[in-house]
Amino acid sequence: MNSQQYALTPNARFRAFGTTLKLRFGGRVQRISIDAGFTCPNVDGAVAKGGCNFCDNRSFSPSRRVRLAAVHDQLVRGISSVRKRYKTVGAFIAYFQPATNTYAPVDQLEEVYRLALAHSPEIVGLAIGTRPDCVPDPVLELVDQLAGETYVSLELGMQSRHDRTLQWMNRAHRHGHMVDAMNRARNRRFETCAHVILGVPGENYDNMMHTARSIGVLGVGAVKLHNLYAVRDTPLGDSVLAGEVKMMSREEYIHAVVDFLRLIPEHVVVERVSGDAPPDYLIEPKWCLEKASLRSDIESEMQRLDAYQGDRYDPDWQDEPIDPLSTPQSISDRIGTRGRLPVLRMQDAASRITR
Ligand code: SF4
Repeated sequence: MNSQQYALTPNARFRAFGTTLKLRFGGRVQRISIDAGFTCPNVDGAVAKGGCNFCDNRSFSPSRRVRLAAVHDQLVRGISSVRKRYKTVGAFIAYFQPATNTYAPVDQLEEVYRLALAHSPEIVGLAIGTRPDCVPDPVLELVDQLAGETYVSLELGMQSRHDRTLQWMNRAHRHGHMVDAMNRARNRRFETCAHVILGVPGENYDNMMHTARSIGVLGVGAVKLHNLYAVRDTPLGDSVLAGEVKMMSREEYIHAVVDFLRLIPEHVVVERVSGDAPPDYLIEPKWCLEKASLRSDIESEMQRLDAYQGDRYDPDWQDEPIDPLSTPQSISDRIGTRGRLPVLRMQDAASRITR
């Protein structure tokens, strides 16, 4: 994506995703989340069990079955519901969101991604959420090939520059995996997006700003910022309810996001500035439920400071040396021995789509 197409202005203090998509596609574009039945190597034991401490992954069993026809149904339902909310929406991005959406044999990945793209001409691209330790070269080559045909964003769950934070989250990967993934993904035809979480206990302001600086070094095309939030039935949720973990305040978060945006390059697309969960599922912080006012207050704070994305970016800043870490053999082995996921039954899907 050519994100240089518009200049930041007093009314656009950071390079917002919605505006960038509008310029690219000529109208409003919304993502439609799809659960295609993938699992996660951090849940099924390929790299660890239990999953990240904030993730409700109870449904990610290796044997779970989501009929692939459901991909079609999810797109139909998702498009219809978005159209009710936004009358002017003109196109959609199929967003493979829950679990690790590159964790299957490559031929099967291609079938699934292409199925979503073939749903209708209104699907103008793909977003694929995954872990940085689960994008071996054949996956990147497939994504690159698709990006030669359509818009594709590969969203990598970086979360933090700091290994001790990743360990606290039970991510079961290290920052070296992100470095390696970006070394191999940079300069390909798809967009890369780093998913980052701010407000993790044990991370201070300087740690978060270190993560911000590393965005420029990694060379990602987009970032998605989330506040840490705790939901029910997760280890993090239990710790919050037990009073063992404290969430960041709204004021601290706004301060961190503003300074984060100032430290990343001006051309990086900002896909989100906060995250939330359904109200009956969310434990804390409740302030993230007011997404629009949170974003508005982040923009107001940037105006008050006369701050812009990238105005503190230092292209000469160098990170401490990090050894790149390649995809663990255990992930490749698990994909090899398990073979095609039982959930993805192409013939069902094909019969539905041609109906
Ligand atoms: S890597 Fe993603 S899907 Fe897997 S447990 Fe963590 S948050 Fe959940």
